[in-house]
Amino acid sequence: MTLPIRQTVHRIGVAPIRLLGKSLLELAGPGRWSQGPPLLKQSAEYWPKKPEQTPTVGSSELKGITFCCFTAVEPNNNIPDATQYSSWKELVEATRRAYGAAATDPTHNQLISHRDAEVLLLRGCQAHSFSGEVAALKAQKPVSKHSHLLSLAPEWDAATGLIRVGGRLRRLNPSVGEIHPIVLDPRHSAVKLLIKDMDERLLHPGTERGYAELRRQYWILRGRQAIRHHQLNCSTCQRWRAQPKVPQMADLPPQRLRFFVHPSTQLASIVLGLTW
Ligand SMILES: [Zn+2]
Repeated sequence: MTLPIRQTVHRIGVAPIRLLGKSLLELAGPGRWSQGPPLLKQSAEYWPKKPEQTPTVGSSELKGITFCCFTAVEPNNNIPDATQYSSWKELVEATRRAYGAAATDPTHNQLISHRDAEVLLLRGCQAHSFSGEVAALKAQKPVSKHSHLLSLAPEWDAATGLIRVGGRLRRLNPSVGEIHPIVLDPRHSAVKLLIKDMDERLLHPGTERGYAELRRQYWILRGRQAIRHHQLNCSTCQRWRAQPKVPQMADLPPQRLRFFVHPSTQLASIVLGLTW
């Protein structure tokens, strides 16, 4: 069996020959430099055997263990997809129908109220946007210190199952919604419909007016920006706030450009159409 020189040398494992520091007379003489190792002149059975690679025992110990975990809150299937609806009222109505159709007792198949459907929708929004906070507050634990809601001192409303803004005014009598508004994420599709509904209900008001109206019930994170972004894309808001454009006037006629001429002469020339 003959192998090319490179394969042969690689297979035998010949060590590199040191040439540095040797004179030409030393290199010209017989030696490994000119004739190669003596193994090359022997048959293949005298060549050294390639060491067999024994499989390492317990190879799993040499590999890093990666643990991937995905935590998700299972959404409520009865809540319709908000992206399929164009208004908040349609979405609430669809939620009412979905819960009415999902009633297990056919004799008690009554639609839930409008407010209950809204609460279900808001609960679904929070479960989707603040799943970690919902789980922590439900278990009566503080939210994570990396949470976006930490500065709001969020608290769990057991009656509605919603996260509300905390505070120190719990002993005040007015309704809970105004003092402890419901926390919402502006990126959720249902919250966008809620902003759109407010905008149309108040006949496309200014950003501050719309923000104040929403703040009576909801605390939308970066809500002012969300309302401004919606109104920038709202065609009605654009029409109401458009500035009238003054048309560009034509050049003055030559009669009005003649100076030092009596006004009556100019008037007569304009009325009679005279030019001179
Ligand atoms: Zn608008």
